[in-house]
Amino acid sequence: MCGIFGMIGKNAVGNTLTALKLLEYRGYDSAGIAAKRNGHIDVYKTEGRIAALAKIVQGAEETDMAIGHTRWATHGAVCTQNAHPFLSRDGRFAIVHNGIIENYKQLKQTLPSVDFGSQTDSETVAHLLAREYRGDALQAVLTVARLLKGSFAIAIVCVETRTIYAVKNKSPLVVGLSESGAYLCSDVRCISRFAQRVAVAPDNTVVELSAREAKFYDFFGKEKETDFFTADRFDEAENAEGDFMLKEIFEIPEKLLCALDGYKQSDGLQLGRFTVNALKRIYLIGCGTAYNSGLQAAAVARKWLDLDVLPVIASEFLYDNYPVDDNTLAFLISQSGETADTVRAAERVRERGGKTYAVTNTRSSSLTFVCEHTVNIFAGSEYAVASTKAYNCQLEVLTLLLADIAFARGVLSQSRRSELLDELAALPDAVQGILDDCSSLARVAEQIKNCSAVFYIGRTADYPIACEGSLKLKEISYIHSEAYPAGELKHGTLALMEPTVAVVAISTQSELADKTASSVIEVASRGAKVIAVSPRLFDNALSVKLPRLSPETSGIVSVVPLQLLAYYTAKSLGRDVDKPRHLAKSVTVE
Ligand code: GLU
Repeated sequence: MCGIFGMIGKNAVGNTLTALKLLEYRGYDSAGIAAKRNGHIDVYKTEGRIAALAKIVQGAEETDMAIGHTRWATHGAVCTQNAHPFLSRDGRFAIVHNGIIENYKQLKQTLPSVDFGSQTDSETVAHLLAREYRGDALQAVLTVARLLKGSFAIAIVCVETRTIYAVKNKSPLVVGLSESGAYLCSDVRCISRFAQRVAVAPDNTVVELSAREAKFYDFFGKEKETDFFTADRFDEAENAEGDFMLKEIFEIPEKLLCALDGYKQSDGLQLGRFTVNALKRIYLIGCGTAYNSGLQAAAVARKWLDLDVLPVIASEFLYDNYPVDDNTLAFLISQSGETADTVRAAERVRERGGKTYAVTNTRSSSLTFVCEHTVNIFAGSEYAVASTKAYNCQLEVLTLLLADIAFARGVLSQSRRSELLDELAALPDAVQGILDDCSSLARVAEQIKNCSAVFYIGRTADYPIACEGSLKLKEISYIHSEAYPAGELKHGTLALMEPTVAVVAISTQSELADKTASSVIEVASRGAKVIAVSPRLFDNALSVKLPRLSPETSGIVSVVPLQLLAYYTAKSLGRDVDKPRHLAKSVTVE
C-alpha cells in the first residue's frame, strides 16, 4: 500500500517516474517527486494517477537525486495539498512516507510555530527534521527516528548532502545497489528492475544511501550488518496490454502447474514427523482473498485431519486471545508477503512459541523474514488489485501442505495422496475449459450488473468459494454483495429477496445438491434471479456449468467462473477493474 522510491544516479526524475508507474498498483490517489538540484529541492505533485504526474514533470530538468511517492491516503483527504513529498519550511528537507505516524498529533504540538500545509501525519516529519538539524543531516534523521511511533518507511533528501536517508519500521523498505546507481524502494519487485543486489532493511533502521554504498544504523547511530542478496527477476508489468485482471485469470492453468511443480521440486512439508505428530492446532491466517483461501483450505483439511484447523482473519488474530503454544502451527498467507496485519500475526505466533509458515508469492518479503518456513506459490507477479490467480495457487499449495500433514499423521493413505496429486495435475485443463467458454459468463454478467445486491451461497466447502466470489464482485463492481452458508439465508437474509436481487448458488457436492436446490427454490419464489454454479442443472436458475471434481480440489476450479463474473460485471459497468476505488494492493498498514 503506497509506494516510495528514491535514487542517486543518472536521470533520477525520469527513472523515479518509471518506478512510480511500477508501484502504482500499491496506491494511486496522488503522486509526487522531489528532485534535488544545485542548492535546492523542487517538488512536483498532484492528485490522481502517475499519468497526471508525468504531465507535470514533462520537460523538467534532469538531475541525479530524487525521491517519489504514490499515495493511498490514510490521514487527510485525497488532494494535491496532501500528496507527498513534503518540504520542511526552510526548504532544506523533502520527505515521502509510507505508513502511519501514530503519534503525529503529539509531535505536531511540539511545533507550535509551524504552519502546516496538509492534513497528513507525514508532513510532521519534514518539519521535525528542520527543527533538529544542527549541521549534520544524519544526526537530525536519527533524532527524528527516535521520536516516531507507528509504521513507516520514509525517504528523505537534504539540500546539504549527496545522500538519501531512510527511516524504517514495520513498513517495507528495500535498498539496491548497481553500476547505474543506488536505490531504495518499498517493493523488491520494482527495485529489481534497477538493481539486482538488494538488501531488506530491518525494522528500526536508518539507512544512509550514497552513490556507491548503503549504511544501516539503529536509531542511536550504531552501524548494523545487513546482508545483500541477488533479487529474482520479475515480469515486466508495463508490457501487458488490456486489463491485468483478465490476463491474470487466463494465466491460472499455467500457474497451477507451476505451483504444483514448484511444490514437488521443493522439500515439500518442511516439518519433521515428530513436530507434525505433536501438533494440536493449525491456524490459517490471512486477509481478504488470502483469508478466503485459508477458509477453503480449512474446509478441505477438515475432511482429513484429526486436529483443529482454524481459519482466522489476521487483524482479528492480533487483538483476540487465540491460544498458541509449541504445538501450534500457523500458515500465514499473503500474496505480497507485506500485508501488515499478517506480518504482525506471524510475529505474535512466534512470540508465543508457535511455528510459522509463510505461504506467499514473494520471496524475500517481510513475511518470509518473520516466519521460520516459507512456501512459494509460484503464481507470478499479480498487478490487478483484485487478486485472482494467487488465490488458486495459494489453495493448491495449502491443499498439498495439509495433505502432507494428514499423511504424516497417518490419517491420509498413501494411495489417496497419490490420487490427489493426479487430480491436482488435471486441474489446469478443467480451468481451461471454463476459460474457453468465458463469453457465457459475460452474458450472465449482463443479468446481474443492475442488481441492487448479489448474494452468494454455498454449503460447507462451497461456502468459502461463495465468500471469494462475493469479495471479487464488491471489490471491482461496487455492487453490494454478501456470502452466506446456503442454509443460513432463512434465518434473516431471506427478508431481502426481491426481483432486484440476484443469488449466485455454488453447489459442487452431489450429496448436498438437493439441499441447495431447496435454497434456490426459496429465493427464486421470492422473485430473486438465481445463477447456479454447479456440475448439475437446477430448476429456476440460470446455469453456469462446472466440471465434476473431487471435493478436495473442486474449489480451485469453481472459483474461476466467479472471478470472471465479477470481471465482466465490473467491465460492463465501466469500472476501472485493475484499480478499484479506495483500494490498493499490498496493504502495508494495520
Ligand atoms: N499516512 C500517509 C498519508 O496519509 C501516508 C499514506 C501512504 O502510505 O500512502 O498521506
